[in-house]
Amino acid sequence: MLPRDPQADIGRRAWVACPNCNDHRGCGDCEQARTCSEHWRYLLSNTGSLLHLQCPSCTHVWTHETGFGATRSIWQRMTGAW
Ligand SMILES: [Zn+2]
Ligand SMILES: [Zn+2]
Repeated sequence: MLPRDPQADIGRRAWVACPNCNDHRGCGDCEQARTCSEHWRYLLSNTGSLLHLQCPSCTHVWTHETGFGATRSIWQRMTGAW
């Protein structure tokens, strides 16, 4: 288990499935791509369309390529930055 990244901030979250623990499986909110109150990831940083994420459940850190860096509406939905 990794320690929580010092950049992890509960005010910056992203709704991306964790590739390590897949804790979203079986959750109705996640499967409908809603902003689930239980299953979210710390958004450590982002570069263009690349998100640097940490899972609060298993502390896994990974980089997620969104592929839609220029599409602001989807970006805002994923990060909760309304
Ligand atoms: Zn995880
Ligand atoms: Zn969920």
